[in-house]
Amino acid sequence: MTPSTAVMDARPAIAVTMGDGAGVGPEVTVGALLDPAAYRDGRPVVVGDAERLRQAARALGVEADVVVVEDVTAAEFTPGRINVVDPGLLPADLPWGELSAEAGHAAHEYVRIACGLAMAGDVQAICTAPLNKAALHAAGHLYPGHTELLAHFCGVEEVSMMLTTPRIKVIHVTTHIGLLDAIARIEPGLVERTIRRGAEALRRAGNPNPRIGVCAINPHAGENGLFGYGEEAEKITPGVEAARAAGVDAVGPLPADTAFFLGGRGDYDLIVAMYHDQGHGPVKVLGIEAGVNITVGLPVIRTSVDHGTAFDIAGTGRVEVGSMVEALRQATELAGAPAPTGA
Ligand SMILES: [Zn+2]
Repeated sequence: MTPSTAVMDARPAIAVTMGDGAGVGPEVTVGALLDPAAYRDGRPVVVGDAERLRQAARALGVEADVVVVEDVTAAEFTPGRINVVDPGLLPADLPWGELSAEAGHAAHEYVRIACGLAMAGDVQAICTAPLNKAALHAAGHLYPGHTELLAHFCGVEEVSMMLTTPRIKVIHVTTHIGLLDAIARIEPGLVERTIRRGAEALRRAGNPNPRIGVCAINPHAGENGLFGYGEEAEKITPGVEAARAAGVDAVGPLPADTAFFLGGRGDYDLIVAMYHDQGHGPVKVLGIEAGVNITVGLPVIRTSVDHGTAFDIAGTGRVEVGSMVEALRQATELAGAPAPTGA
Protein backbone atom coordinates (compact mmCIF):
# COMPACT_ATOMS: atom_id res chain seq x y z
CA MET A 1 0.00 0.00 0.00
CA THR A 2 1.44 3.39 -0.94
CA PRO A 3 1.35 6.18 1.65
CA SER A 4 -1.21 8.18 -0.35
CA THR A 5 -3.76 5.34 -0.40
CA ALA A 6 -3.15 4.78 3.32
CA VAL A 7 -4.08 8.41 4.00
CA MET A 8 -7.20 8.09 1.84
CA ASP A 9 -8.42 4.95 3.63
CA ALA A 10 -11.85 5.70 5.13
CA ARG A 11 -11.76 2.77 7.54
CA PRO A 12 -11.07 3.87 11.13
CA ALA A 13 -7.76 2.85 12.65
CA ILE A 14 -8.05 0.93 15.92
CA ALA A 15 -5.34 0.34 18.54
CA VAL A 16 -5.82 -3.13 20.05
CA THR A 17 -3.90 -3.43 23.33
CA MET A 18 -2.74 -7.00 24.04
CA GLY A 19 -3.33 -6.74 27.80
CA ASP A 20 -1.42 -8.89 30.30
CA GLY A 21 0.91 -11.18 28.36
CA ALA A 22 0.63 -13.95 30.98
CA GLY A 23 -3.16 -14.14 30.58
CA VAL A 24 -5.50 -14.90 27.68
CA GLY A 25 -5.02 -11.41 26.17
CA PRO A 26 -2.57 -12.55 23.45
CA GLU A 27 -4.86 -15.42 22.42
CA VAL A 28 -8.07 -13.35 22.18
CA THR A 29 -6.10 -10.64 20.34
CA VAL A 30 -4.91 -13.14 17.74
CA GLY A 31 -8.43 -14.58 17.49
CA ALA A 32 -9.98 -11.15 16.90
CA LEU A 33 -7.36 -10.04 14.35
CA LEU A 34 -7.71 -13.25 12.33
CA ASP A 35 -11.50 -13.00 12.27
CA PRO A 36 -12.70 -12.62 8.65
CA ALA A 37 -14.46 -9.37 9.60
CA ALA A 38 -11.42 -7.74 11.25
CA TYR A 39 -10.21 -5.72 8.23
CA ARG A 40 -13.50 -5.28 6.41
CA ASP A 41 -14.56 -2.01 8.06
CA GLY A 42 -11.54 -1.12 10.20
CA ARG A 43 -7.75 -1.01 10.38
CA PRO A 44 -6.84 -2.64 13.70
CA VAL A 45 -3.19 -2.57 14.81
CA VAL A 46 -2.03 -4.39 17.94
CA VAL A 47 0.03 -2.68 20.62
CA GLY A 48 1.75 -5.61 22.29
CA ASP A 49 4.48 -8.22 21.99
CA ALA A 50 5.09 -9.88 18.62
CA GLU A 51 6.74 -13.05 19.96
CA ARG A 52 3.95 -13.52 22.51
CA LEU A 53 1.34 -13.21 19.74
CA ARG A 54 3.20 -15.91 17.74
CA GLN A 55 3.17 -18.17 20.82
CA ALA A 56 -0.56 -17.47 21.24
CA ALA A 57 -1.22 -18.38 17.61
CA ARG A 58 0.60 -21.70 18.15
CA ALA A 59 -1.48 -22.32 21.31
CA LEU A 60 -4.64 -21.71 19.28
CA GLY A 61 -3.36 -23.90 16.44
CA VAL A 62 -3.73 -21.14 13.83
CA GLU A 63 -1.45 -19.56 11.22
CA ALA A 64 -0.65 -15.88 11.76
CA ASP A 65 1.87 -13.63 10.03
CA VAL A 66 2.86 -11.35 12.92
CA VAL A 67 4.73 -8.30 11.62
CA VAL A 68 6.28 -5.54 13.74
CA VAL A 69 5.49 -2.05 12.39
CA GLU A 70 6.88 1.33 13.44
CA ASP A 71 3.50 3.06 13.38
CA VAL A 72 -0.07 2.75 12.11
CA THR A 73 0.72 4.11 8.64
CA ALA A 74 3.21 1.27 8.06
CA ALA A 75 0.56 -1.40 8.67
CA GLU A 76 -0.86 -3.55 5.86
CA PHE A 77 -4.26 -5.13 6.17
CA THR A 78 -4.15 -8.43 4.36
CA PRO A 79 -6.01 -11.37 5.93
CA GLY A 80 -3.79 -13.50 8.15
CA ARG A 81 -1.34 -10.68 8.80
CA ILE A 82 -1.22 -9.12 12.28
CA ASN A 83 0.47 -5.71 12.54
CA VAL A 84 1.98 -4.98 15.95
CA VAL A 85 3.62 -1.95 17.52
CA ASP A 86 6.02 -3.70 19.92
CA PRO A 87 7.97 -1.82 22.61
CA GLY A 88 9.87 -5.07 23.35
CA LEU A 89 9.06 -5.44 27.03
CA LEU A 90 8.27 -9.14 27.55
CA PRO A 91 10.88 -11.88 28.11
CA ALA A 92 10.51 -14.64 25.48
CA ASP A 93 10.13 -17.28 28.21
CA LEU A 94 7.35 -15.56 30.17
CA PRO A 95 5.28 -18.32 31.77
CA TRP A 96 1.56 -18.49 31.01
CA GLY A 97 -0.89 -18.09 33.87
CA GLU A 98 1.49 -16.67 36.48
CA LEU A 99 1.28 -13.23 37.98
CA SER A 100 4.21 -11.20 36.65
CA ALA A 101 5.29 -7.64 37.39
CA GLU A 102 7.02 -7.53 33.99
CA ALA A 103 3.77 -8.43 32.22
CA GLY A 104 1.91 -5.91 34.41
CA HIS A 105 4.31 -3.15 33.44
CA ALA A 106 4.14 -4.10 29.77
CA ALA A 107 0.32 -4.02 29.85
CA HIS A 108 0.53 -0.53 31.38
CA GLU A 109 2.85 0.57 28.57
CA TYR A 110 0.57 -0.83 25.86
CA VAL A 111 -2.27 1.33 27.21
CA ARG A 112 0.03 4.36 27.44
CA ILE A 113 1.16 3.93 23.82
CA ALA A 114 -2.42 3.39 22.59
CA CYS A 115 -3.57 6.59 24.33
CA GLY A 116 -0.68 8.45 22.70
CA LEU A 117 -1.81 7.20 19.28
CA ALA A 118 -5.37 8.30 20.10
CA MET A 119 -4.28 11.76 21.28
CA ALA A 120 -2.21 12.20 18.10
CA GLY A 121 -5.23 11.30 15.96
CA ASP A 122 -3.49 8.20 14.57
CA VAL A 123 -6.29 5.89 15.79
CA GLN A 124 -10.02 6.53 16.13
CA ALA A 125 -10.68 3.87 18.78
CA ILE A 126 -8.99 1.63 21.33
CA CYS A 127 -10.00 -1.98 21.92
CA THR A 128 -8.49 -3.52 25.05
CA ALA A 129 -7.71 -7.13 25.93
CA PRO A 130 -7.81 -7.86 29.67
CA LEU A 131 -5.04 -6.77 32.02
CA ASN A 132 -4.46 -7.99 35.54
CA LYS A 133 -4.93 -5.49 38.34
CA ALA A 134 -2.62 -7.36 40.75
CA ALA A 135 0.15 -7.52 38.10
CA LEU A 136 -0.27 -3.81 37.45
CA HIS A 137 0.07 -3.14 41.19
CA ALA A 138 3.08 -5.51 41.44
CA ALA A 139 4.77 -3.29 38.83
CA GLY A 140 4.05 -0.22 40.96
CA HIS A 141 1.20 1.13 38.84
CA LEU A 142 -1.50 1.77 41.42
CA TYR A 143 -4.69 2.26 39.45
CA PRO A 144 -8.09 0.84 40.44
CA GLY A 145 -8.53 -0.52 36.91
CA HIS A 146 -8.22 -0.24 33.18
CA THR A 147 -10.68 2.64 32.79
CA GLU A 148 -8.82 4.86 35.27
CA LEU A 149 -5.55 4.12 33.47
CA LEU A 150 -7.03 5.20 30.13
CA ALA A 151 -8.57 8.34 31.63
CA HIS A 152 -5.21 9.26 33.19
CA PHE A 153 -3.22 8.88 29.95
CA CYS A 154 -5.87 10.78 27.99
CA GLY A 155 -6.02 13.58 30.59
CA VAL A 156 -9.75 13.09 31.28
CA GLU A 157 -11.39 13.24 34.73
CA GLU A 158 -14.87 11.84 34.14
CA VAL A 159 -15.92 9.03 31.82
CA SER A 160 -19.07 6.94 31.47
CA MET A 161 -19.55 3.21 31.06
CA MET A 162 -21.77 2.05 28.25
CA LEU A 163 -22.85 -1.52 27.56
CA THR A 164 -23.91 -2.32 24.04
CA THR A 165 -25.63 -5.30 22.50
CA PRO A 166 -27.09 -5.62 19.02
CA ARG A 167 -30.51 -5.02 20.63
CA ILE A 168 -29.97 -2.31 23.22
CA LYS A 169 -27.37 0.22 24.41
CA VAL A 170 -27.17 1.39 28.03
CA ILE A 171 -25.05 4.16 29.56
CA HIS A 172 -24.59 4.42 33.34
CA VAL A 173 -24.72 7.54 35.52
CA THR A 174 -22.90 5.62 38.31
CA THR A 175 -21.15 2.23 38.22
CA HIS A 176 -18.75 0.70 40.71
CA ILE A 177 -19.86 2.20 44.01
CA GLY A 178 -22.35 1.04 46.64
CA LEU A 179 -26.01 1.63 45.95
CA LEU A 180 -26.48 4.15 48.79
CA ASP A 181 -23.38 6.03 47.57
CA ALA A 182 -24.68 5.92 44.00
CA ILE A 183 -28.00 7.52 44.96
CA ALA A 184 -26.12 10.19 46.92
CA ARG A 185 -23.82 10.91 43.99
CA ILE A 186 -26.54 11.31 41.35
CA GLU A 187 -27.24 15.00 40.70
CA PRO A 188 -28.53 16.98 37.71
CA GLY A 189 -25.08 17.92 36.38
CA LEU A 190 -23.86 14.32 36.34
CA VAL A 191 -27.12 13.17 34.73
CA GLU A 192 -26.83 15.86 32.04
CA ARG A 193 -23.15 15.09 31.29
CA THR A 194 -23.89 11.37 31.05
CA ILE A 195 -26.80 11.93 28.63
CA ARG A 196 -24.69 14.26 26.50
CA ARG A 197 -21.68 11.88 26.44
CA GLY A 198 -24.01 9.08 25.30
CA ALA A 199 -25.57 11.26 22.61
CA GLU A 200 -22.13 12.34 21.37
CA ALA A 201 -20.93 8.72 21.16
CA LEU A 202 -23.95 7.72 19.05
CA ARG A 203 -23.60 10.80 16.82
CA ARG A 204 -19.96 9.92 16.21
CA ALA A 205 -21.14 6.44 15.21
CA GLY A 206 -23.38 7.94 12.54
CA ASN A 207 -26.72 8.50 14.28
CA PRO A 208 -27.26 12.29 14.05
CA ASN A 209 -30.22 12.49 16.42
CA PRO A 210 -30.27 9.56 18.85
CA ARG A 211 -33.44 9.03 20.91
CA ILE A 212 -32.55 8.61 24.57
CA GLY A 213 -34.72 7.23 27.40
CA VAL A 214 -33.63 8.15 30.93
CA CYS A 215 -34.46 5.82 33.84
CA ALA A 216 -35.86 6.94 37.19
CA ILE A 217 -34.40 5.77 40.49
CA ASN A 218 -37.59 4.70 42.29
CA PRO A 219 -40.24 2.19 41.16
CA HIS A 220 -42.77 3.76 38.78
CA ALA A 221 -40.53 6.86 38.69
CA GLY A 222 -41.70 7.65 42.24
CA GLU A 223 -45.43 7.31 41.47
CA ASN A 224 -46.12 11.01 42.11
CA GLY A 225 -44.44 11.03 45.50
CA LEU A 226 -45.76 7.69 46.71
CA PHE A 227 -42.32 6.00 46.50
CA GLY A 228 -39.04 7.60 47.53
CA TYR A 229 -38.25 11.15 48.61
CA GLY A 230 -38.63 13.12 45.41
CA GLU A 231 -35.30 11.94 43.94
CA GLU A 232 -36.63 12.08 40.38
CA ALA A 233 -37.65 15.76 40.57
CA GLU A 234 -34.53 16.75 42.49
CA LYS A 235 -31.77 14.74 40.80
CA ILE A 236 -32.91 13.68 37.34
CA THR A 237 -35.55 15.99 35.80
CA PRO A 238 -33.31 19.11 35.74
CA GLY A 239 -30.51 17.08 34.12
CA VAL A 240 -32.84 15.78 31.39
CA GLU A 241 -34.15 19.31 30.78
CA ALA A 242 -30.63 20.72 30.50
CA ALA A 243 -29.70 18.01 27.98
CA ARG A 244 -32.87 18.76 25.98
CA ALA A 245 -32.02 22.47 26.02
CA ALA A 246 -28.64 21.49 24.54
CA GLY A 247 -30.40 19.79 21.63
CA VAL A 248 -30.44 16.15 22.81
CA ASP A 249 -33.63 14.14 22.22
CA ALA A 250 -33.85 12.80 25.78
CA VAL A 251 -36.99 11.87 27.71
CA GLY A 252 -37.44 10.92 31.36
CA PRO A 253 -37.24 10.08 34.12
CA LEU A 254 -39.11 6.98 32.96
CA PRO A 255 -40.01 3.99 35.12
CA ALA A 256 -36.94 1.83 34.49
CA ASP A 257 -38.83 -1.37 33.66
CA THR A 258 -40.85 0.49 31.02
CA ALA A 259 -37.74 2.22 29.67
CA PHE A 260 -36.06 -1.14 28.98
CA PHE A 261 -39.24 -2.56 27.44
CA LEU A 262 -39.48 0.42 25.08
CA GLY A 263 -35.74 0.38 24.39
CA GLY A 264 -35.77 -3.33 23.56
CA ARG A 265 -38.66 -2.66 21.17
CA GLY A 266 -36.59 -0.04 19.37
CA ASP A 267 -38.23 3.16 20.65
CA TYR A 268 -34.90 4.39 22.07
CA ASP A 269 -31.35 4.19 20.71
CA LEU A 270 -29.89 4.50 24.20
CA ILE A 271 -31.12 3.99 27.76
CA VAL A 272 -29.56 5.96 30.63
CA ALA A 273 -29.37 3.81 33.78
CA MET A 274 -28.86 5.42 37.17
CA TYR A 275 -26.82 2.61 38.79
CA HIS A 276 -24.82 -0.51 37.92
CA ASP A 277 -27.41 -3.29 38.22
CA GLN A 278 -30.26 -1.25 36.77
CA GLY A 279 -28.39 -1.23 33.46
CA HIS A 280 -26.38 -4.46 33.70
CA GLY A 281 -29.34 -6.73 34.56
CA PRO A 282 -31.27 -6.27 31.30
CA VAL A 283 -28.07 -6.48 29.23
CA LYS A 284 -26.91 -9.71 30.89
CA VAL A 285 -30.28 -11.33 30.09
CA LEU A 286 -29.29 -10.96 26.42
CA GLY A 287 -26.22 -13.15 27.02
CA ILE A 288 -22.71 -12.50 28.32
CA GLU A 289 -21.24 -12.95 24.81
CA ALA A 290 -23.35 -10.16 23.37
CA GLY A 291 -22.31 -7.43 25.80
CA VAL A 292 -19.38 -5.15 25.07
CA ASN A 293 -18.13 -2.65 27.63
CA ILE A 294 -17.46 0.80 26.20
CA THR A 295 -15.78 3.76 27.87
CA VAL A 296 -17.35 7.01 26.69
CA GLY A 297 -15.80 10.42 27.32
CA LEU A 298 -12.22 9.70 26.24
CA PRO A 299 -10.96 11.48 23.10
CA VAL A 300 -11.65 8.18 21.30
CA ILE A 301 -14.08 5.32 21.81
CA ARG A 302 -12.72 2.46 23.90
CA THR A 303 -14.23 -1.02 23.95
CA SER A 304 -13.18 -3.99 26.02
CA VAL A 305 -13.93 -7.65 26.48
CA ASP A 306 -16.27 -8.69 29.24
CA HIS A 307 -13.86 -11.21 30.78
CA GLY A 308 -10.60 -11.11 32.75
CA THR A 309 -7.11 -12.57 32.22
CA ALA A 310 -8.28 -16.16 33.00
CA PHE A 311 -4.81 -17.30 34.18
CA ASP A 312 -6.19 -20.83 34.70
CA ILE A 313 -6.54 -21.45 30.94
CA ALA A 314 -4.00 -18.95 29.49
CA GLY A 315 -1.75 -20.45 26.82
CA THR A 316 -3.87 -23.58 26.36
CA GLY A 317 -5.81 -22.35 23.31
CA ARG A 318 -9.08 -23.07 25.11
CA VAL A 319 -10.22 -19.44 25.52
CA GLU A 320 -13.42 -18.33 23.78
CA VAL A 321 -12.47 -15.43 21.47
CA GLY A 322 -16.03 -14.33 20.63
CA SER A 323 -16.16 -11.51 23.19
CA MET A 324 -12.99 -9.91 21.79
CA VAL A 325 -14.23 -10.31 18.20
CA GLU A 326 -17.39 -8.46 19.23
CA ALA A 327 -15.40 -5.79 21.13
CA LEU A 328 -13.33 -5.11 18.00
CA ARG A 329 -16.45 -5.00 15.82
CA GLN A 330 -18.10 -2.48 18.17
CA ALA A 331 -14.95 -0.35 18.30
CA THR A 332 -14.99 -0.22 14.51
CA GLU A 333 -18.69 0.59 14.36
CA LEU A 334 -18.57 3.33 17.00
CA ALA A 335 -15.28 4.89 15.87
CA GLY A 336 -16.71 6.48 12.75
CA ALA A 337 -14.46 7.60 9.94
CA PRO A 338 -11.15 9.38 10.59
CA ALA A 339 -11.53 13.16 10.75
CA PRO A 340 -10.38 14.72 7.45
CA THR A 341 -7.91 17.01 9.22
CA GLY A 342 -6.62 14.21 11.42
CA ALA A 343 -7.71 16.29 14.43
ZN1 LIG B 1 -19.38 -4.20 36.97
